[in-house]
Amino acid sequence: MLDFSILKRQNPLFKLINFEVMSDVFSKDKRSEVMSKIRSKNTKPEIIVRKFLFAKGFRFRIHDKKLPGKPDIVLKKFAIVIFINGCFWHGHINNNCRNAKLPKSNAFFWKNKIIGNMQKDERNINLLKELRWNVITIWECQLKGKFLNDTLESLLTSILGNISNTH
Ligand SMILES: [Zn+2]
Repeated sequence: MLDFSILKRQNPLFKLINFEVMSDVFSKDKRSEVMSKIRSKNTKPEIIVRKFLFAKGFRFRIHDKKLPGKPDIVLKKFAIVIFINGCFWHGHINNNCRNAKLPKSNAFFWKNKIIGNMQKDERNINLLKELRWNVITIWECQLKGKFLNDTLESLLTSILGNISNTH
């Protein structure tokens, strides 16, 4: 059994994450291949959101390097940045989220890494807010199956609701 108690004491975020451990069905090589695919730019969830916004007539920048955290989508006119987060890499804290499960092998390594990512995300969001950006985070699992329509609809509502706040 892996012992996370030391890390738990050191890092309060650890308590928030209730990762289930899934059995490691991939070999190491296969796993790193799978992980690199998960991590790559222009991932499918991102494309779904981009296509949706484009079809609704919005124009935007993508992966803007000038902004903290390189937001996936930037709607400058609305002062909105959107992050589309992979549940695994960004540690989706939600017991119903099946995507955030840790592999059994190297679980300690992954957990540490993901906590690091979460802290980075938090820092970037705070920086963006200081720069007066409205930050929207969409999780990969919210774009799946029956959740997709609701997610896109509420995104639209958030963007349009923001018009009054911009200049
Ligand atoms: Zn999720």
